[in-house]
Amino acid sequence: MKPDLRPGVEGTRSRLPTVAALSPRMWWAFLLPPLLALSAQTLQSSQSHQSATFAVVGGTVVDGTGREPIEEGHVVMDGDRLTCVGTPEECPLPDGTETLDAQGRWVVPGLVDAHVHFSQSGWVDGRPDALDLREEHPYPEVVAELRSAPERFFRTYLCSGVTAVFDVGGYPWTFDLRDAPQPRPDLAVAGPLLSTRDHWVNLPAERQFVHISDEGAVEEAVAYLSSRGSDAVKVWYLAEPGSADEERFLPLLQRAGELAEARGIPLIVHATALETAKDAIRAGAHLLVHSVGDQEVDTEFLELALAAGTIYNPTLVVHEGYHEIRARHFRDTRYPLDCVDSVTFAKARSTQEIPGGLEPEDVAASARDLERQSRLLAENLLRVHEAGIPVAMGTDAGNPLTLHGPSVHHEMEAMVDAGMTPMEVLVASTRNGARAMGREDVLGTLEAGKRAHLLVLDSDPTESVAAFRDMSHLVVGGRLHTPAEFLPVDSP
Ligand SMILES: [Zn+2]
Repeated sequence: MKPDLRPGVEGTRSRLPTVAALSPRMWWAFLLPPLLALSAQTLQSSQSHQSATFAVVGGTVVDGTGREPIEEGHVVMDGDRLTCVGTPEECPLPDGTETLDAQGRWVVPGLVDAHVHFSQSGWVDGRPDALDLREEHPYPEVVAELRSAPERFFRTYLCSGVTAVFDVGGYPWTFDLRDAPQPRPDLAVAGPLLSTRDHWVNLPAERQFVHISDEGAVEEAVAYLSSRGSDAVKVWYLAEPGSADEERFLPLLQRAGELAEARGIPLIVHATALETAKDAIRAGAHLLVHSVGDQEVDTEFLELALAAGTIYNPTLVVHEGYHEIRARHFRDTRYPLDCVDSVTFAKARSTQEIPGGLEPEDVAASARDLERQSRLLAENLLRVHEAGIPVAMGTDAGNPLTLHGPSVHHEMEAMVDAGMTPMEVLVASTRNGARAMGREDVLGTLEAGKRAHLLVLDSDPTESVAAFRDMSHLVVGGRLHTPAEFLPVDSP
């Protein structure tokens, strides 16, 4: 028997109340399926944890590189590093190795969400520019609450199988999350973003949007990010193609690219129009954090991206959340919600109580717009992917109703619906995510030398990415856990 992490009937979520009362030792007993013979040695050490050398054995290993799976493979780790991944002959177990027997299961790298925002709550209170509820939810309080309790999002990520995330824009305090205690996902953090628009969603004494009004502002901003050890220089490049804004801000985007390169920091760009996305690639963008969404991508775009090695982050499903806010209807069956903390869950459920929603005919029109947009994004994703441009899965979590953690399931399923194979989406959600973070050397695949993050799945992820919903165990930094350990502690 294993926990069902999928949502129950609409409006509920299946918790494990009877399990919650069990002792840590009992948890394990509950979670052990009869055929999964976790050795007694491992079981005993699960609280103080296993010895330095640990191995997941017998499962089908899908290593995240796109290579053929290894049947009955060995994934061996020492501390938080993988030391050998291969057949039992290639990877004999050192004496004293504790093991998790994963026979009949699949072993994959931990997922990477390459586009999240810890400065956003997953609901509209974090985006008052989308819907202004500041009277009931004062913005400074919302941000203070996010800052004070990042561990609840760390839990939802781990509970959802996500062992690394890229925060691609937020308040300066997000830099400090990289020093937060384990267990948590590995983090790359861009920090405050350079914006072509003097956006107002800031705190009176703290900014997440730094307006790049001129070259001096760009220089100061990049120097600041560099001083904070930022993992990326993110530019919010909102300029109508062909407009005076594009003429004004293109040189500033290019300057940001030059300065970032000089300091050895990757440039990442929000540019959702075809022509501005080309501007971004020419300026040296390592990552486009969104799809091209105004028209079909053309040959010039594909050639530019391919030549530059730019990574494409499709963020397919974030638009659905905005539609659901407009419609005042949180469709809680899009992805599993068990991992979501009670604060966020309660906010999402209260969506229907916000006054002033659209009239039914306007809801229908909004749904049609969403469908048109989704179709274009899906078609563009397939063109980009088929051209050989690396695609990295990213959800834009933190945006309204794109909840931190489980949104990855919906995003991966949408990528398959767009026409990628489950194996291709697996690579996009592991190795390519690590590449987007600038961490491919240490994260994203099951290869010797990399961080020991992995998931054990009950069904075949190369058949269906829904397999990621059925995780029996996860290893985070070399330590064995069950997803149930990361269920919210503050269940209502
Ligand atoms: Zn974003």
